[in-house]
Amino acid sequence: MTIFSVGKATVVRIEETYQPVYGPKELFAEFTDEILSEHRHWLAPNHYDSATDKVKLSVHSWLLQIGGQKILIDACCGNHKSRPTRPWWNMLDIPYLDRLAAAGARPDEIDLVMCTHLHHDHVGWNTQLRDGKWVPTFPNARYVFSKPDVDYFQTLDIDPKTAPAEFGTFRECVLPIVEAGRADLVTGTHRLNDHIEIVPAPGHSPGHIVFRLESGGAHAAFVGDVFHHLLQVYYPHWNFPKNSDAKAARVSRRAVLEHCASTGALVLPGHIGAPFAGYIDAAVNGFRPRFG
Ligand SMILES: [Zn+2]
Repeated sequence: MTIFSVGKATVVRIEETYQPVYGPKELFAEFTDEILSEHRHWLAPNHYDSATDKVKLSVHSWLLQIGGQKILIDACCGNHKSRPTRPWWNMLDIPYLDRLAAAGARPDEIDLVMCTHLHHDHVGWNTQLRDGKWVPTFPNARYVFSKPDVDYFQTLDIDPKTAPAEFGTFRECVLPIVEAGRADLVTGTHRLNDHIEIVPAPGHSPGHIVFRLESGGAHAAFVGDVFHHLLQVYYPHWNFPKNSDAKAARVSRRAVLEHCASTGALVLPGHIGAPFAGYIDAAVNGFRPRFG
């Protein structure tokens, strides 16, 4: 288990899955064989699987411990959730909570759950199935959600005649938290406490947010899905196919990369392969990742 230190804070990655999932051209329209040749030396094996010609993505949470609090950042896909068009994340049965306990937190010890956005692979463990009902997994936690995302998915999910948005994710993983009175909805830039500031980074979803951490002069940024792959650090205009606003996603990506490069923040994204966290350097024509 790798423990990242940021001032007095510690951060541990809690793995749900880490595997080859998408063909590179499915993920990025701009991907070419020439780009594969140019980057192959660092892409494989952590970020690209040569045997299957697929991009490797991790799905994980970050367990942040600071100021006596245990904070879970992003909540993966969760077990027993039907995701028929994502076979590699469908009806999972993974000892995620055992891994979380091994990293230092039982469910009842989690003080805060913070979701960068409300897509299915970031809210799954918010709830678990008990006696046929989805109930909060972390009974003593407050859950921090972006209000623009809650508003957006609530609107999408309201019509029972259409298929539920995000595979029913909002109904299963967000609404039970809101209805239990455990959700804190945030809008705009928001200082959560002495160490954490919430900053909007819309585009991948309407209310996507980034969590900036500062402790003892050291910085970190939990950037969620502002980028899905390190190739997007080299090519910040490359978008993941699924965005609520492609133009805004590009603007947010550049702003986050600039912030991380200028502050020297440890960057902790949602899906990047091993070593899972690293740094962004400013380069002549943009940015370069320094992960491992
Ligand atoms: Zn994601």
